[in-house]
Amino acid sequence: MKALRPFWPLPALLVALLLPWLPGLPAFWVTLANYTGISSIVAIGLVVLTGISGMTSFGQATILGLGAYTTAVLSKYCDISPWLGLPAGLIVTAAGASLLGAVTVRLSGHYLALGTIAWSVGLYYTFANLDLLGRNDGISGIPPLTILDLKLLDGRASFSVIWIGVILAALATNNLLDSRAGRAIRALKGGAVAAASFGVDTPRTRLLAFVYAAVLAGFAGWLYAHMQRSVNPTPFGFYQSIQYLLMTVIGGAAHVPGALLGAVLVTTVNDRLQDILPRLFGAHGNYESIVFGMLLIAVLQWAPNGIWPLIARIRPRARIIRADALRLPARAMPAPGTTLLDVARLRRSFGGLVAVNDVDFKLAAGEIVGLIGPNGAGKSTTFNLITGIDTPTAGQVSFNGQDITGWPARRIAAAGIARTFQHVKLVPTMSVIENTAIGAHLRGHASALAGLLRLDRTEDARLYAEAARQLARVGLADMADRPATSLALGQQRIVEIARALCLDPVMLLLDEPAAGLRHNEKVELAALLRRLQGEGVTILLVEHDMEFVMGLVERLVVMDFGTKLAEGSAEQVRNDPRVIEAYLGSVE
Ligand code: ADP
Ligand code: MG
Repeated sequence: MKALRPFWPLPALLVALLLPWLPGLPAFWVTLANYTGISSIVAIGLVVLTGISGMTSFGQATILGLGAYTTAVLSKYCDISPWLGLPAGLIVTAAGASLLGAVTVRLSGHYLALGTIAWSVGLYYTFANLDLLGRNDGISGIPPLTILDLKLLDGRASFSVIWIGVILAALATNNLLDSRAGRAIRALKGGAVAAASFGVDTPRTRLLAFVYAAVLAGFAGWLYAHMQRSVNPTPFGFYQSIQYLLMTVIGGAAHVPGALLGAVLVTTVNDRLQDILPRLFGAHGNYESIVFGMLLIAVLQWAPNGIWPLIARIRPRARIIRADALRLPARAMPAPGTTLLDVARLRRSFGGLVAVNDVDFKLAAGEIVGLIGPNGAGKSTTFNLITGIDTPTAGQVSFNGQDITGWPARRIAAAGIARTFQHVKLVPTMSVIENTAIGAHLRGHASALAGLLRLDRTEDARLYAEAARQLARVGLADMADRPATSLALGQQRIVEIARALCLDPVMLLLDEPAAGLRHNEKVELAALLRRLQGEGVTILLVEHDMEFVMGLVERLVVMDFGTKLAEGSAEQVRNDPRVIEAYLGSVE
């Protein structure tokens, strides 16, 4: 996610205030620019919803209509100031979106898109059939915005208000995406499992992205109603929703400046086509929708991420780490030697395959234990069952004296279990330190609103300082601002360890952490794990490198075909005939 330069709002504000008064500027140009501005705000919301969170909405124009009708009714019939129509419109869209989103965002993929079509059609016909809303004729004579005694009647005055609105929407969105809640949103697409393992409430975060996009659409609706001074159902229909989606996708779905670019392109092309096509075909008709369809296919073919990434260099934003940031409070570790993890008759079947077959083992606080076994033995599945990524078919997992069986992953994370993944799960569009900071999600509390208003900076600096500290601890301080997936795979595993450490874990589950590391990197990793043990962290380790494991652990649990084969010291396990047969034998 490329951040706009920090100083951009000031010159942008000057442009918004002065540009419309440029002598000789044609009035139709100003009108076009006003529509572009309103569309940009909707498209910025769709950047968060569709481009970043991966949820497609075919209903954004209808939500815009909700904001527009709210302020229209209040200012026309209730004699309420248009300025008060803004908070009212935002509250109505936020409440409406929470309701619609609660049903919709639980759906996945195409069902979600279909869900948005369903309620937007319903809402559209509500607009068109309610007497209060003037049915198909809508509401006209909506009062304009006024500043002091000045009525903003013409396009030039509206231009400034609309584009200040665009600046605010872009600023708020950039702030949000750079906050604790924003990092959770950015992890939704592709990183949801990892995010949940670090305490992110993924269903709620999806709803947050949905409501945020809706609130921006509602804001655009308020601007629309008072600029146009009349509303009717037509511009809030399906066709216009597709146009907003098109703007986002063409511009650069995951980038705020891309939304602006897309809005400019689509609005301009639309305007030109409405001029040219009828002359070309000699008749009136919705030819532009055909052209837009072809345009969309072309862009998806040649620039699947939109046009913005082609013309701008996208780099993760570098953050200055505040050295004076207060250290986050650390949790108390359980007394060494007490039973920390108790896995009892744990079972997981996938259809006919029993991946984990009534496995028992225990870990005492402060131990390092190795979980070994050939590929497919059920080690990663065991990790998933312990961490709540997967639910056991039978059996029980207790942690720190509590039965945690069936808890959601985020609750287990809160209890102090952190993990890494055999198949690295870092968010590619985020930098190393942003990925790492997700590990500290539960150690912060700032809300999305606080992030959006930049009231979270002290806390966020602390989260970042913690992420930087853990990266330094694993030896990757230099890599902090690199895109996560630009690192070698072995290093990405180490980033996952730093992320896990950000949780301030009581217990660490490491799934093949040394895979892909060079010899000296393995030596460093072993030293790090010993230091962690010295600090009271309990570690369960899956690893194929026997030299690495044997040198590190006190005890080994051996699995094969889902079943526990043996358990004991390295010496005992090495001499166990069943283990030699099943596992070590095959290595030798
Ligand atoms: P290990 O980590 O020890 O190599 P896994 O736990 O990944 O083994 O897998 C154990 C067995 O369970 C394998 O046979 C694997 O194919 C199967 N398995 C794992 N996850 C699933 C799943 N989600 N659906 C079906 N089978 C699975
Ligand atoms: Mg595995």
